[in-house]
Amino acid sequence: MPMNNRPTNKRRPTPPNRRGMKNAGFVALIVLIGLVVYAAYSQPSATKTIPVTEAVKAANSGQYSKIVVSGNELSITKKGDDKASIKTYTDPNASVKELGIDFSKVQVSFKPESSGSSFWVIFLQSFLPILLIGGLLYFMLRSAQGQGNQALSFGKSRARLYGNEKDKIVFGDVAGQGEAKQDLEEVVEFLKYPKKFQGVGARIPKGVLLVGPPGTGKTLLSRAVAGEANVPFFSISGSEFVEMFVGVGASRVRDLFAKAKKNAPCIIFIDEIDAVGRRRGSGMGGGHDEREQTLNQILVEMDGFEQGQNVIVLAATNRADVLDPALLRPGRFDRRVNITLPDRQDREAILKVHFDKKPLGKDVNLDALAAKTAGSSGADLANIANEAAIIAARNNHSQINQDDVTEAFERVAIGPERKNKIMNDKEKEITAYHEAGHAIVGHVLPDSDPVHKVTIIPRGGTGGVTWFLPPEDRSYTSVIEFKDVLARALGGRIAEEVIYGKDRVTTGAGNDLQKAAEIARDMIVNQGMGRKLRDQVFHVDDGMMLDKLVHERDYSDDTAKLIDEEVESLITEAANRARAVIKANLKKIEALKDKLIEKETVEEKEVAEVLHGSVLPKEAALY
Ligand code: ADP
Ligand code: MG
Ligand code: ZN
Repeated sequence: MPMNNRPTNKRRPTPPNRRGMKNAGFVALIVLIGLVVYAAYSQPSATKTIPVTEAVKAANSGQYSKIVVSGNELSITKKGDDKASIKTYTDPNASVKELGIDFSKVQVSFKPESSGSSFWVIFLQSFLPILLIGGLLYFMLRSAQGQGNQALSFGKSRARLYGNEKDKIVFGDVAGQGEAKQDLEEVVEFLKYPKKFQGVGARIPKGVLLVGPPGTGKTLLSRAVAGEANVPFFSISGSEFVEMFVGVGASRVRDLFAKAKKNAPCIIFIDEIDAVGRRRGSGMGGGHDEREQTLNQILVEMDGFEQGQNVIVLAATNRADVLDPALLRPGRFDRRVNITLPDRQDREAILKVHFDKKPLGKDVNLDALAAKTAGSSGADLANIANEAAIIAARNNHSQINQDDVTEAFERVAIGPERKNKIMNDKEKEITAYHEAGHAIVGHVLPDSDPVHKVTIIPRGGTGGVTWFLPPEDRSYTSVIEFKDVLARALGGRIAEEVIYGKDRVTTGAGNDLQKAAEIARDMIVNQGMGRKLRDQVFHVDDGMMLDKLVHERDYSDDTAKLIDEEVESLITEAANRARAVIKANLKKIEALKDKLIEKETVEEKEVAEVLHGSVLPKEAALY
């Protein structure tokens, strides 16, 4: 069971203050609105308006102490009060003197007009709408820019600049990968001491291509190069060049290289370069015009570097085979650093790096975990470490213990347990027979990996799992090993068939069959392992043409038919071998099934005990 290669989240560094400032602006806006409302409602509160004749009468009878006239508005203060509490209005054209107020009974003063409204009310009334609209516009513009300048700057490169950060990455952060590091140390030297190389007439390479499976640390290594050389690092992903609009990619490339030249010495890192760098003119890949233009621009820019400019372009891909040969020409990406899946020792080193910052219990055996994780990438291992920490936290452990680590490993490899998915007894029995079938075939066939664990607890998308683990790393797989893998993959379906009958087999084997078909086709098409079609490979170019998938193949229809026949014969042979093993070991299958129903999960040792004494029938043996 291969490990899943889950993509790890790449963090886009966002300016930390942006968000906070936005919030502050928002609060200010709310406060402003609050002020307006306050001003509108809290103005002249406890004043009473009375008819002017009544006011004059009261004034002349000596009830008031003070009248303040402002235009046609009279504010009246009663005797004994210290604040105006009454208002009245005269006819706008009439003079106050004509009202007949006895000036000896009350003190009358005049104030310039309009001073009745306070300064704040005037201020808010006249300026607030402008402020509000201005503020709104400002925030709208800001948030438009906040989204990576998308709306306003298509042609700008979206390269992100790293360097001078606190969490700078250096070679020490990359575990293992000794050879790749050695190759890249040279690049660091070019960046640090260019004179030394130019002095003896050496041409400093412009492009270095990092090739390796996903998650093996290509991006990490490139950042480490920048960190070691202490130069800025412009990072952009190939897919970011490709936009809906023709010409955008090319202009982004131009912008990126212009920025880089200004910041030399520096590193440009183009991640996933196969997104733009595919072989041109194959008619594959929708909208390839745009891709071609972008690719051409990259080539032009790389050729345009003058000697001594000291910009090194690193690029990463896991599909070096599809790259345009023009990219790989001398003077462009002529250096190649191969990055491989880590071996056991490197896996342990990577695990150490990632468990290092976490509280780890004394019982955790990273060496054993490294042994179990053959085929895992660095990203997988980092993922296991993170999952283990999550599981430990959820179990309220203060330290990560061995059970947490085991659970994390299984989660990453085959998905989380689905303990609350309920299976009825019949389904449980079918699953137990099915898994016992896989297990017995794998156990009996001499070139299969040993059974690591069998479980009928649903995990990820499957009903149960039989898990084989290679005892050690291997780089090659032989025909015989492939055939044993095929047979054990069919073991589940065949066990159902033998136990319940041909037409009672279930959909539980869907995944198995698909995997078997893939392996068989790979053997024939890519590995030259057919019977008639020996030592030949058949190239298929999968691609998207407009919106339909196309397969461009370089062999005839007759060959296609032959390939299908070869695949079929491999599958049939595997099914027959599985059937022979199962029929010869029915008692063992029964025993393992019972154990599974009883315990749900049976570990390596116990599987071996239960299946001890099983036999390899002649029909299933290959040699
Ligand atoms: P790639 O670019 O090859 O797909 P990345 O460089 O993005 O892979 O690696 C993903 C993550 O995996 C890294 O962030 C790191 O946590 C982990 N990783 C991969 N290889 C190593 C390694 N050799 N040492 C330490 N961590 C690694
Ligand atoms: Mg990457
Ligand atoms: Zn199965």
